Amino acid sequence: MRITDWLYLVGSGQVGFRLTDDYDCHVYLLDGGEEYALIDAGGGRSTDEIIAQIAREGLDPQRAAALFVTHAHVDHAGGAAGLRERLGLQVAASPEVAQYLRSADERGSSLDVAREGGVYPLDFVFEPCAVDRELADGDTVQVGNLVIEALATPGHSAGHLAYVVRRDGEVSAFTGDALFAGGAILLQNIWDCSLHDSIRSVERLAALSLDGLYPGHATFAVRDGRREVDKAMESIRQRLPPRQLH
Ligand SMILES: [Zn+2]
Repeated sequence: MRITDWLYLVGSGQVGFRLTDDYDCHVYLLDGGEEYALIDAGGGRSTDEIIAQIAREGLDPQRAAALFVTHAHVDHAGGAAGLRERLGLQVAASPEVAQYLRSADERGSSLDVAREGGVYPLDFVFEPCAVDRELADGDTVQVGNLVIEALATPGHSAGHLAYVVRRDGEVSAFTGDALFAGGAILLQNIWDCSLHDSIRSVERLAALSLDGLYPGHATFAVRDGRREVDKAMESIRQRLPPRQLH
């Protein structure tokens, strides 16, 4: 699904547009010309479908040079191993997320409790994935004609990164599960979730004065993304948590 002249949605699950497997987050493709970047990988059960979506847009999947993982939850990170193997791309994530990805750590990624809680099927498997590049806050990576900047946005989970792209005078952020359209956040009863950190992360995103806001689930905003962030900031200014994603 083409979103703008340089941005496509090539994977999306049940908390989205049902393009691919139910357990996929949004998988974005950023067209940098000679090379493409992917943001997040989906759960891993529909890697072939994601690659088919890329080809259906008239794009060459083999030009996908880098995959940027926002966090270790399996609906975002589970597909990394398959995409790396099939497309030969480089995988980038924060050091914490890299650690969980390399060992397919079910506790670190909270797959253990999510599976127990019925969020994922009992036979859901997290495939380990090599990580080629560990990114710290403020690090940038060039992919084709795109410069992609890592922004530390923990709170939803440990080591969560958003990815910021500045292009044609506009600022777009791929916010994973740190912030959604409508100013929603997603707090869960898992070991590494923190309301305090989540609010700090929303404040960091608010400082960007966003045009494009592209979260990991549900709808997104192509323009005036800052209005979505402002909805969360209204609650934060009243010392209240922003609303939860439903
Ligand atoms: Zn998550």
